[in-house]
Amino acid sequence: KAKQQGRNTLQTFTYDINQKLTQRVTLRNDLQEAITQEQFELHYQPLLTRDGDIHGFEALVRWNHPVKGPISPGLFIPIAEETGQIIGLSQWVMERAAKDFLKLQPLLPNHCRMAVNLSPMQFHRPSFLSSLRKTLEVTGLPPTALELELTEGILMNDTEAAIDTLHALRGMGISITIDDFGTGFSSLSYLRHLPIDKIKIDRSFILNIVESSKDAAVVQGIIALAHHLELNVVAEGVETSAQQQHLLALNCDVLQGFLFAKPMPFEPLTHWLAVQQQNAL
Ligand code: C2E
Ligand code: MG
Ligand code: MG
Ligand code: MG
Repeated sequence: KAKQQGRNTLQTFTYDINQKLTQRVTLRNDLQEAITQEQFELHYQPLLTRDGDIHGFEALVRWNHPVKGPISPGLFIPIAEETGQIIGLSQWVMERAAKDFLKLQPLLPNHCRMAVNLSPMQFHRPSFLSSLRKTLEVTGLPPTALELELTEGILMNDTEAAIDTLHALRGMGISITIDDFGTGFSSLSYLRHLPIDKIKIDRSFILNIVESSKDAAVVQGIIALAHHLELNVVAEGVETSAQQQHLLALNCDVLQGFLFAKPMPFEPLTHWLAVQQQNAL
């Protein structure tokens, strides 16, 4: 019986793997056409200061597949990374985010920035800095209106070169955030050496911050450490006002999450902004 079960499990297992592989191969082929056929769209999620002012926006890419419908970036970004298609996609993201932000800028407080997620492959390319400079020039986005989100993993290999790149970016006036903080390698000592501006605490730590005193302690520790290093702290995935209150009590600087706004296409975002400003009067 056990043998029989073992064989079935193995069969299901190989079947699952085959399905996943087929799905990946199909998506990979479809990605090729997706850029030229403009199947991508950017959504923007507001980030708010602890006083409720607009701090900026995060650009989040969406893929509207002509047959399969919307596909999550959590699924297709890793595939695009493997195939190198991420380079073309990232270029499109940066340009679109820059253009959209310039349209919004007259409606925004001065210090607002557009945050764009960087992929490891993009960051480690020798031409990364020069192509970014060119994109800023062509679009007219001031570097002081741009924020780049990097994960810890990006900075772990070839740390020396990564630090040089970060210095160059900050020299231009670009702001740097460590995204999903706490989920990666998290050697805390590396924070001392990195020229960065902010850390964004991963959603998994925010999720149970009210119920779990351990999670709350971790968040409290991260925020205290960051402030000692003169870094700002963002919390992502804030969904309830209880979480918000907790984070404010722990001195969190910036909040992002469905409680305030979901990621939105450009048009709804302009309406959201109008309502926001109406309420501020
Ligand atoms: P991320 O950079 O950590 O982005 C935050 C994710 O959390 C987004 O998922 C956002 O929609 C989601 N989120 C925000 N607030 C809440 C909340 O209150 N509750 C819940 N449950 N979720 C919330 P999304 O848009 O599916 O993106 C997933 C990941 O895909 C991103 O994680 C980022 O790593 C990657 N990604 C998205 N757009 C890009 C891009 O243009 N370039 C690159 N390289 N990666 C991207
Ligand atoms: Mg991000
Ligand atoms: Mg994040
Ligand atoms: Mg995340």
